[in-house]
Amino acid sequence: MMENEDWLVKAVAEKLGTGQDKVKELVKKKLYEFPNLTESAALRMVATENGVMPIRRNYKIADINDEFGHINITATIKRKFPPREITIKGTKSKVINLVLQDQGGSINVVVWDANKAGYLEKEASDGDTISIANAYSRKNKLNDKYELHLGNGCAIKVTKNPTALVAYKKEYQRISDVKDDSKLYQIRCFVVRLFTNNIFLIRCGICKKKVIDKCDEHGDTALSKTLFISGILDDGLSTIRASFFDKTAEKLLGLSKAENIENKVNDVSFGLYEVEVSGVPNKFNETLSLNVKDVRPIDYTI
Ligand SMILES: [Zn+2]
Repeated sequence: MMENEDWLVKAVAEKLGTGQDKVKELVKKKLYEFPNLTESAALRMVATENGVMPIRRNYKIADINDEFGHINITATIKRKFPPREITIKGTKSKVINLVLQDQGGSINVVVWDANKAGYLEKEASDGDTISIANAYSRKNKLNDKYELHLGNGCAIKVTKNPTALVAYKKEYQRISDVKDDSKLYQIRCFVVRLFTNNIFLIRCGICKKKVIDKCDEHGDTALSKTLFISGILDDGLSTIRASFFDKTAEKLLGLSKAENIENKVNDVSFGLYEVEVSGVPNKFNETLSLNVKDVRPIDYTI
């Protein structure tokens, strides 16, 4: 249980200045409060409440020193081996092995998913850059080293030309670039927190004023209810408050496969979704936020 999230338990314990047992106790309490949460979601909730971002992204190879899940990493393909045919439970499949390298070291990679193995066989060469989302690490019992495993739940993207990668990164702005102007900003970031109160905006349909339950002038006959979600975006360097209205809010919640609005909001609140947003700055009470006009999931696949 939670064996892949020990790093997060450690991070919360450090932040609270307590032992890891105390954090596990908080997770148990949270599960008691919200019995439908998974243990992982409960841990992420406890982390967020204590100011610890529950995402670990941009791993370096040297960071992979335990058995982790949800590993996102970009590295150079140092060596691609020829694919092997294997038989799993009577079904023939294809596996490919890679060695990846970054400034800090190298790591062996096993690609179990036949589609991705086939894609790499055709499209990847030594020296290319590969971006991987949602891989996991396991210790190889033969050499006691950690390897990266890619199953069918992960996504990959190979970039042939290093200059193309730079161009791809350049089309995004940083959150720290956002100024109090009326420009449309394009930012690649994680949704790290959604606020779960007031997810609807209620207006009087006649005077269009924001109301609580009825308009002082026009009563409650013409009220309109619009989805309105505010949250926090994080591009790895800084964070900004963001608002999502109506169709954009629907698109945001559409990232989650959960079945109702409350569960979707909870699911999207834990930093699991990397998105590309287009938004216009909005300054209120000296605080800059982003009024999001569009939100799209990052497409890791080709
Ligand atoms: Zn009114």
